[in-house]
Amino acid sequence: MGDVTRTDWIWMDGEFVAWEDARIHILTHTMHYGYGAFEGTRAYKRSDGGTSVFRLDDHLGRLANSSHILQLPLPFSREEIRAATLELLKRNKLESCYIRHLVYIGQGAMGLNPGDNPVRLAISTWPWGAYLGEEGLAKGVRCKISSFTRPFPNSLMTKAKVVGNYVNSILAKREAISLGYDEALLLDLDGNVAEGSGENLFMVRNGKIYTPPLNNVLEGVTRRSIMELAEWKGHTLEERGFTRDEVYTADELFMTGTAAEVTPIREVDDRQIGNGKPGPITRDLQDTFFAIIAGDVPEWSHWLVDVPMAARASDQDSKATSAAAS
Ligand code: PMP
Repeated sequence: MGDVTRTDWIWMDGEFVAWEDARIHILTHTMHYGYGAFEGTRAYKRSDGGTSVFRLDDHLGRLANSSHILQLPLPFSREEIRAATLELLKRNKLESCYIRHLVYIGQGAMGLNPGDNPVRLAISTWPWGAYLGEEGLAKGVRCKISSFTRPFPNSLMTKAKVVGNYVNSILAKREAISLGYDEALLLDLDGNVAEGSGENLFMVRNGKIYTPPLNNVLEGVTRRSIMELAEWKGHTLEERGFTRDEVYTADELFMTGTAAEVTPIREVDDRQIGNGKPGPITRDLQDTFFAIIAGDVPEWSHWLVDVPMAARASDQDSKATSAAAS
């Protein structure tokens, strides 16, 4: 039980530590108050058999921004974190997986002021399939407008992936699940639809794509990617706020996120969206996204950072065989 994240290694503060030894003290400051930052990134197996990380440098950039916002100086350089991430993927031999960077305040002073407690960094990886299910990806998911409001940027920082911010997301997610839905959509303080518990939102009306502006939402790497792809595919897109009743009458709706990838929404608050099936623009962008991460779209290969995997046993066998033959 609880071992679905089991791999060989976890990287902690510059060391590769065996998964079962990756422990922290109960007085770790972030455990008590949620003051820390994290990042979620995915690596994908390409159709040529290799593995690459999707937009690693953009994710590491956001990690740096989150840490900057929280005034937590990252204890390693961007280059060191990047190299550690790639080495960890290689050591864990995972072809497709999720990657979690966590910046946290270690043990020392308690109380709200962490004082001189060390800032620590851990990187973990684990296999993670479709976040909202394969069926959700194929047919769309059912959402509920949450009774919880997205944090107001002047109370919690919405541009940083702050550990404690996710209490709001978990409350919304659990409420939606317990009421029989797949995911929550949260409104901002003005009553506009902001985002999912861990996803950005896109709406299609009369052939045009809309997404809420960044005021109250996380600046999703997948959101930015979809905006760039929409333009590349010749769709028109506008960032503007919209209300829940506009969402009810949308032609298409979809969510984006590292975990959720590009997931169509087929129902909101028991109202069918469009004809209840993923629409053509959603499909087009979803197909393009999956083709890119599989390494099949050369125009966007710069989004993929290759993981230099150790030569597989089968490769070595075939090399040995061909060496013997020559
Ligand atoms: N909004 C929230 C609140 C999130 O947690 C996430 C996941 N990081 C997203 C949006 C989507 O961001 P990204 O595409 O960078 O994963």
